[in-house]
Amino acid sequence: MSKRPGPSRSAAALASWWSREGLPEQDRIEALREIAPELVRVETLATVSCGERTFPLQALHVGTDDLDRPVFGLFGGVHGLERIGSHVVLTFLESLLERLRWDKEARRMLRKCRLVAMPVVNPGGMWLRSRANPRGVDLMRNAPVDAEVRTPFLVGGHRLSRRLPWYRGEPGELEVESRALVDFVERAIFPARAALTLDVHSGFGATDRLWFPYAKTTAPFPSMTQVMALVNLLDRAYPHHVYRIEQQSDAYTTNGDLWDYLYDRHRAAHPERLFVPWTLEIGSWAWVRKDPRQLFASGGAGVFNPLRAHRYDRAMRRHLVLLDLFLRSVRNHRRWSGLEPPSPPAGDERPPGDDTDLER
Ligand SMILES: [Zn+2]
Repeated sequence: MSKRPGPSRSAAALASWWSREGLPEQDRIEALREIAPELVRVETLATVSCGERTFPLQALHVGTDDLDRPVFGLFGGVHGLERIGSHVVLTFLESLLERLRWDKEARRMLRKCRLVAMPVVNPGGMWLRSRANPRGVDLMRNAPVDAEVRTPFLVGGHRLSRRLPWYRGEPGELEVESRALVDFVERAIFPARAALTLDVHSGFGATDRLWFPYAKTTAPFPSMTQVMALVNLLDRAYPHHVYRIEQQSDAYTTNGDLWDYLYDRHRAAHPERLFVPWTLEIGSWAWVRKDPRQLFASGGAGVFNPLRAHRYDRAMRRHLVLLDLFLRSVRNHRRWSGLEPPSPPAGDERPPGDDTDLER
């Protein structure tokens, strides 16, 4: 038997909240390639400068190279302080790749669909322990989208000063990290016949929330039918799940949300296809409530990340079933999304409802 991974893993993760030794999250991306080199491709999308240092912006691809196939996209670390989000993404990827070493059914599934990920979208902010990127811009306020309703002061995104949190950046200018994310989604996700994405954050409230767009308006989200169909799958498959599910604008409205921007672009180009970008907002105030010292710990990291090993472990295992459900549901999107499949090629005599269509 090779060396067993064990509880030391959570201790190491907790130590990283304080450590100044590089970014262990980026080492874990490289290590994913080693788990299953024939199934994982890691690419560098751009380089981020942060004072004397530079960080690669890494993305990875698992499964078939056929871009038309359904895809699940995972994102984390958009806000540098919210490291737990990157850890949820990395833990799921590690678990899946470990299973792919021996699980023939999982391998077969990934010949029919794809998984892509940017586990650390804002490495410079993570290194600096700041929400914003190294230039003081909040990436989730940086898209060229103006809210259609009044947004909360500062939190909704502003152009007053990059010294204040939630700064949007210069008008018409996408930051390196935002540009890399947008280009990556357009190249790796837009060509797919169906797509779901999940961007993992923390810091809002004490309940784990699943948000669907929009952030820019309280008007109903155009893909509400697909949202409700997926929620129905989740409620029926995991009736004891922990998530409060709402449109993001039910919590607060913002300018410049990257997922609003990408959703609208996708809808303009492919109105007939499934694409719902979700946000998982981990309710980190539950940890603060149990241990108020978290408020002052580790330069603010305690508000966004658990500081005790058992809470870290719980956060890591709590979301695995959700991520697995997203992957399996996008792969089987025809069964629930209500979106019409393209007409079958001439001579395709297969009766409707035949299960073999799942293997296409
Ligand atoms: Zn966030």
